[in-house]
Amino acid sequence: MKKGRVFSGARPTGKQHIGNYLGAIQNYVKLQENYDCIYCIVDIHALTTLEDTHLLKANTYDMMLDWLAAGLDPQKSILFVQSHVPEVTELHTLLSMVTPLGWLLRVATFKEKVKMQPHNVNYGLVGYPVLMTSDIVLYKADTVPVGEDQLPHLELAREIVRRFNFIFGETFIEPQAKLTNFPMVVGLDGERKMSKSYDNQIELAATPEETAAKIMTAFTDPARKFRNDPGHPEVCNIYRLHGFYTSLKMPEIGEKCRSAQIGCVECKRLLAENLNKALAPFRERRAQIAQRSGYVQEVIADGARRAQALARETLKEVKDKMGLP
Ligand code: SF4
Repeated sequence: MKKGRVFSGARPTGKQHIGNYLGAIQNYVKLQENYDCIYCIVDIHALTTLEDTHLLKANTYDMMLDWLAAGLDPQKSILFVQSHVPEVTELHTLLSMVTPLGWLLRVATFKEKVKMQPHNVNYGLVGYPVLMTSDIVLYKADTVPVGEDQLPHLELAREIVRRFNFIFGETFIEPQAKLTNFPMVVGLDGERKMSKSYDNQIELAATPEETAAKIMTAFTDPARKFRNDPGHPEVCNIYRLHGFYTSLKMPEIGEKCRSAQIGCVECKRLLAENLNKALAPFRERRAQIAQRSGYVQEVIADGARRAQALARETLKEVKDKMGLP
């Protein structure tokens, strides 16, 4: 039976953290078993904010290195960088002809961005969903792994596809959402989603010492001022992180916290120990891959070649349908 084709893209955020791994990468790795997967670092999307553009190259390299170390396999999946297949920008232009402006101006994330960067409300921000649609349909992907919050974006992509197919005839597959319950990993500030932009992350590639030191800075139960105060694990993010890395001991840790038999320092040490144990194979693989001179670049170049072959076919079909000479 023919496998479905998955597409997913992620912005080049550099070294990946445990939130990226638990929320997306581990799912990417699993999907490779049952789908033809195309995973893309969407560097053009990153330009909509024009922040830290001088870091794009290094961030792209670090991210791909982490993906490979985490188990994304170039023999099974196409791994590439968005801008290396320029056909996506051509398709973006063509799809923009069938996308009513009203649809784009209503997108909630566009409105948020306008508030966040009123000094830079560029066309790229408005056209972002069209570029995202192009990313998916250029490779004729039928499945897109998404969290519930991303469903409206995918629905818009499906609407664009329907409109194109209605005007020019059946061309694109309507991509389906593959809903995944990504756990939302809260950062070391204990409040916001783990993210490099909040500087509250634990990087997968950090050394064991760096990891332990970072965990020691984490916020815990604010009501627990002294070692002998009983704690409330249900409000503590360290406790939640234990859930990912020390799950079997959760009831015991919870009980010891509530009865003040364990202090936060000890509790954090235990988490650091387990996290470092869990990440050791990743770190070893990462070091091995990093030593292979030019390997990451080869993977990226090969991914671009394979993605471009698919892209050219689609674009030819689209231009024919649209009547371009
Ligand atoms: Fe959090 Fe652990 Fe401290 Fe309890 S003992 S408040 S779970 S860090």
